[in-house]
Amino acid sequence: MKTLAIIGSTGSIGKSTLNVFKKNKNKFQLLCLAAHSNLKKLNYQKKIFKPKNIFLINNNINNKRLITAELFIKKYKKKKIDYVISGLSGFEAINFNFELLKISKNLLIANKETIICGGEIFINFAKKNNCKLLPIDSEHHCIDFFINNFKSKNLIKKYYITASGGPFYDKKNIYNQTIKNVLKHPTWKMGKKISIDSSNFANKVLELFEAKILFKLSNKEIDVRVEKSSNVHAIIELTNNLVFPIMHTAKMEIPISNALNLKNNFKINFDDKKFSLLLPNKKKFPLINLGFEILSKYDHIGMIIFTVINEKLGKMFLKNEIKYGDIVKILINTFKNKKIFKFKSNIRNLNDINKAINYAKKIELCLKK
Ligand code: NDP
Ligand code: MG
Repeated sequence: MKTLAIIGSTGSIGKSTLNVFKKNKNKFQLLCLAAHSNLKKLNYQKKIFKPKNIFLINNNINNKRLITAELFIKKYKKKKIDYVISGLSGFEAINFNFELLKISKNLLIANKETIICGGEIFINFAKKNNCKLLPIDSEHHCIDFFINNFKSKNLIKKYYITASGGPFYDKKNIYNQTIKNVLKHPTWKMGKKISIDSSNFANKVLELFEAKILFKLSNKEIDVRVEKSSNVHAIIELTNNLVFPIMHTAKMEIPISNALNLKNNFKINFDDKKFSLLLPNKKKFPLINLGFEILSKYDHIGMIIFTVINEKLGKMFLKNEIKYGDIVKILINTFKNKKIFKFKSNIRNLNDINKAINYAKKIELCLKK
């Protein structure tokens, strides 16, 4: 039996992981379920799934019946857990994800914000702790699978990640869209933050950064295509001009099952599926160009600033403090101000990453052109 911990069990990735666990209970000992602050849902999950421990990551919530996150890490530092899933959302999860590297033999990581803000430092810390990082973001899972199973990295010329195009790809006048419409993703059922990001291509920008860091790619090696059905997740182009689209049904249970070495039942029916790969509409979704500009000019600090400001704007939109279209407008305008890159320190460790994140949080947002 393998040991398993699901961190972020109350979210969408948590739900998909629990779906996988339900079908494979005999293969795992469930050591823990953890959430940020939703104790009600966590207690409900505890009754159903009977984990050994539950805890909250939010230090501000004290509950004598729970162990603390610190104690959990301490407990498993010596006897590491076979599989830990990190389905926490947002860049604030970074510090705890670094802690998880200390107790995981394999870390299934969905939280792209940590990979981006952590960069090479996160990857190297995983190595130092003998923790295997298994990306489960579908695009990165497909690329990771291809590289590991076909041993062909030196033959690969280009890596494409695909986007569904989100709910507004063919719609006009989207500036004033409602929260309800923004969260209605056509092909995936996900948490609020990633749903907003998917609607305006911020998610694809984050995934470009994520791919660059995970697979150590040069900017020329990565690109984006739109595939509306979300059946193609990545496309690998080889130097001999063979091209491999990698497909699976749009269910997160597939990358999660694969990373856990389990079978899944989500057979794709591609016979009746018409799929085409489109060049993204960069005029309508200008964040794609901004993403490539950040990759070519501003490197790690640029990626951190984008991640932090984008998340801040998403939260402001959900609180009705800004309009939907303001998210993109503010990102584009704020990045025009080159003074925002004046963060001069080198980013060499987690402490420096936190400093860079705090710096990014304080950047003045610019709505006007
Ligand atoms: P959800 O919003 O559905 O769930 C978020 C989880 O994170 C919850 O368990 C929540 O706990 C916890 N959380 C909330 N606030 C914080 C915080 N400040 N710090 C740490 N944890 C927090 O998100 P998703 O499951 O959709 O996404 C999780 C991650 O996976 C994201 O990084 C996303 O980009 C990535 N991802 C998601 C996919 C999907 O299909 N959903 C696909 C690919 C990647 P609580 O309930 O207590 O608030
Ligand atoms: Mg993805």
